[in-house]
Amino acid sequence: MNKDLVPSFSVVSLGCARTLVDTEKMVQSLQGKGFALVPEGHEQICVLNTCSFIQSAVDETESNIVSLSDRKRRGEIRYLVVTGCYPSRFKKPELKARYPEVDIWLTTHEEDRLQAELAQLVFRRRFLPSRPVRYTKLTPSHYSYIKISEGCDNWCSFCTIPKIRGKHTSKSIDEIVKEAELQVSFGAKELILIAEDTTAWGEDLYGTPSLPKLLDVLETVKGVEWIRLMYIFPSRVDDDLISSINRNSKIIPYLDMPVQHANTRLLELMHRRHTGDRLRDLMKKLAAEIPNLVVRTSLILGFPSETDAEVQELLQFIEEYPFAHLGCFSYSEERETKSARIEPKIPEDEIQRRISRVMGRQYDLVIQRNKTRVGERLQMIYDGNRVGRSYREAPEVDGRLLLVDPKSLQPGDMVEVQVIGVDGLDLTVALCS
Ligand code: SF4
Repeated sequence: MNKDLVPSFSVVSLGCARTLVDTEKMVQSLQGKGFALVPEGHEQICVLNTCSFIQSAVDETESNIVSLSDRKRRGEIRYLVVTGCYPSRFKKPELKARYPEVDIWLTTHEEDRLQAELAQLVFRRRFLPSRPVRYTKLTPSHYSYIKISEGCDNWCSFCTIPKIRGKHTSKSIDEIVKEAELQVSFGAKELILIAEDTTAWGEDLYGTPSLPKLLDVLETVKGVEWIRLMYIFPSRVDDDLISSINRNSKIIPYLDMPVQHANTRLLELMHRRHTGDRLRDLMKKLAAEIPNLVVRTSLILGFPSETDAEVQELLQFIEEYPFAHLGCFSYSEERETKSARIEPKIPEDEIQRRISRVMGRQYDLVIQRNKTRVGERLQMIYDGNRVGRSYREAPEVDGRLLLVDPKSLQPGDMVEVQVIGVDGLDLTVALCS
């Protein structure tokens, strides 16, 4: 390619917010070397950042590779790059043989080589001069995901992530604060801390998990209004974390804490390091000690050998310990995990029945609770398109506040609203005068 031409690229980011954060980094690194981000359909280079932690994510990744390979064969794109979890999980020589149209494969640990590899491929040289870069965000500018560590050492028996993403490695406080300040300079009022396990943060730096230490520092970052904690590992929640949430006004009382199940036998088979009783004690303690706490969780239904009585126990658990938001995953057998050897397997149609029972019960519980909330006043951050959120709702995954008359509100504005009705899992709200 002519050295003076500006190569254009598009990105496709699959999977969760953790992948999106990596995608944003790759976008910055390419823009910093003179590559221009353009919408899909107008690019010379396409970068596909992938997810592959369960079979359905693998299927989605592979269908994207197939359709992008077709586009390359038709001459619509010139170069195809695949990064992230998918090439981390599978062997590169096999992937290269299977998808010859892909020019560059980079694992999650190799993503910082993207610009050098593309420079070599496009310009036949390893290094390109750096250029001033206009920061491009792939999420709205008023909230921002901050990844505080990489990898996971928990080795839950059903999970491929420790194998794909490697050992847990924390980012330093300085690096995280710098990132937070950068995001604030682009308009972020809400920081959402993410990792595979946010409560493990600091273990590799200080010899013991130290999330409260990080929270105390983030509390001092000017311009931040809310700091939200996601991916909390239940057995690591302790008094220090609870008091850190209580003493720091910007750490909102919202915990995304995937509990996976409530039955001790299954939790042990899952290697979750806590029993059903410990989980119940924790839920009681959190509710008693953190005022106005909201907990979001996710569950796995259909883990091998799960009985009907154990599903019943789970239903009882969500009635007794209410979760504001709850998502269910169907167990996905991944051959390299320990749980793949547990029998008997639960048929997929039975798993779906179990999910419907749990989600149906959760739906009824949320509607009942929502009805009692009419008249409540809330501080809301406006996301645009008549939709907002209070501290009780994380973006993209939880219920929403539907605003009847947004007047001239702009995304990121924080205003007081009153709940005037219930619309399924969402609440209808009006601006307070
Ligand atoms: S804590 Fe999460 S990422 Fe880590 S092994 Fe368990 S399920 Fe996987």
